[in-house]
Amino acid sequence: MRECFELRDADAGGRIGELTVPRAETTVETPALLPVINPNLDTISPRRLAEEFGAEILITNSYIIHGTEDVREQALEEGLHELLDFPGAIMTDSGSFQLSEYGDIDVTTEEILEFQHEIGSDIGTPVDIPTPPDVSRERAEDELATTQERLEVAEDVDTGDMLVSAPVQGSTYPDLREEAGSHADATDLDVFPVGAVVPLMNDYRYDDMVDAVAAAKRGLGADAPVHLFGAGHPMMFALGVAMGCDLFDSAAYALYARDDRYLTVRGTRQLAELDYLPCSCPVCTEHSPDDLRALPDRDREEELAAHNLHVTFEEIRRIKQAIRAGNLLELVEQRARAHPAMLDGYRALLDHAAQLEQSDPVSKGSFFYTSHESARRPEVRRHHERVTRLETPDSLFLTEGEPARGDEYDESWRVEPPFGPFPRALSKSYPFTAELPERTDRAALEAAVEGVVRLVEANPETEVTLGHWGWPDGVLEAVPERVEVVDLMGDGD
Ligand SMILES: [Zn+2]
Repeated sequence: MRECFELRDADAGGRIGELTVPRAETTVETPALLPVINPNLDTISPRRLAEEFGAEILITNSYIIHGTEDVREQALEEGLHELLDFPGAIMTDSGSFQLSEYGDIDVTTEEILEFQHEIGSDIGTPVDIPTPPDVSRERAEDELATTQERLEVAEDVDTGDMLVSAPVQGSTYPDLREEAGSHADATDLDVFPVGAVVPLMNDYRYDDMVDAVAAAKRGLGADAPVHLFGAGHPMMFALGVAMGCDLFDSAAYALYARDDRYLTVRGTRQLAELDYLPCSCPVCTEHSPDDLRALPDRDREEELAAHNLHVTFEEIRRIKQAIRAGNLLELVEQRARAHPAMLDGYRALLDHAAQLEQSDPVSKGSFFYTSHESARRPEVRRHHERVTRLETPDSLFLTEGEPARGDEYDESWRVEPPFGPFPRALSKSYPFTAELPERTDRAALEAAVEGVVRLVEANPETEVTLGHWGWPDGVLEAVPERVEVVDLMGDGD
């Protein structure tokens, strides 16, 4: 177990954890948001971030500090915590972003890590190579090799009790991301950013982002704290957390405010287009859209940044509560409706249901079936695995709800969409207490039939009869021929 990170609660791939940051003598509860602070211009002061918004950790760029003479001298003299006036933990980035934007920077991993240590950073970062999506495989491999060499250099730099992050690259090649994850996990470094996903998010490629993160997670151990680098829009936090990301950083709150953009969990709005403010934060209760529009530029930017932060932190709290309550995937389902590309992201997440299932608790409070995607949730998949191991009698009647008939069989089990068959004794256990809409959809019926198929295939000796209430022929086609199928709607008794 990694000493700096402890898991407290889980739901799907999401978790509540505690990241111990020894240098800051503090623990940070995850999922956590790290507001990005530009040391040269802050829209909201770090002190205010801590006191008004409850920020436990922030991130700033050591490369900018290193390159700005007066700030560098002040940071070396007073330390970063004094310089920024922030009481929590401070993570520093290394200039990799500048490297990806401008193609060249003038520090090495060794120099920048030593500098981060000298100025009192709590979590430092080496100079990795953020390989963009869709590059040639050769380039992705070469650059990954360089990143991996730098992680090995980083291991040898004397950084005291500063935690050091180990970025996971590999472009859009899942096998490279997975290998990068395993390599990073085998180092003695501490925090694991999944890097270079910003171009994917900028292009609304949430499905590709999910695949990249899922691959990185397969390589990293379950105990690795994972940072989704550059992901700052609250619309996608629930999706990111459900994949197993623990840390997010937001420059978006300030950058968007500068362009009069107003963040919501359902997407971004232009202040110019808003007739109402759909939010109850202090900014939105004290101002009308016209008031905000009438403010001088600098004040408007600050008010919008404050609103953007309020929604951002609120969503993090909502996600933590959802993990506690065991309904994180229902929140992801809601967020997926904000944009078709988010829905693609959620559907891609469900492609990894087997991976999510490994950390998903066996029992939770509720299972609400709220979209046809619910039929692909890890709980359904788990039952389909489990059903093959259940002991069956010689003859078995499967039926929805109460047994309409069944005396002539050894046992009568329930068959409920989307899970499929299970012994009646399990009716009160999770997930069979699920709430479904009365108007069942085809995806739920198809998933139930898949459960029947798995049961029948695993028990060739058992004679199975399936009694259903008007399931369509197209759905029943998948039922093996040797199963007797009875439509109870047309059944006299
Ligand atoms: Zn607001």
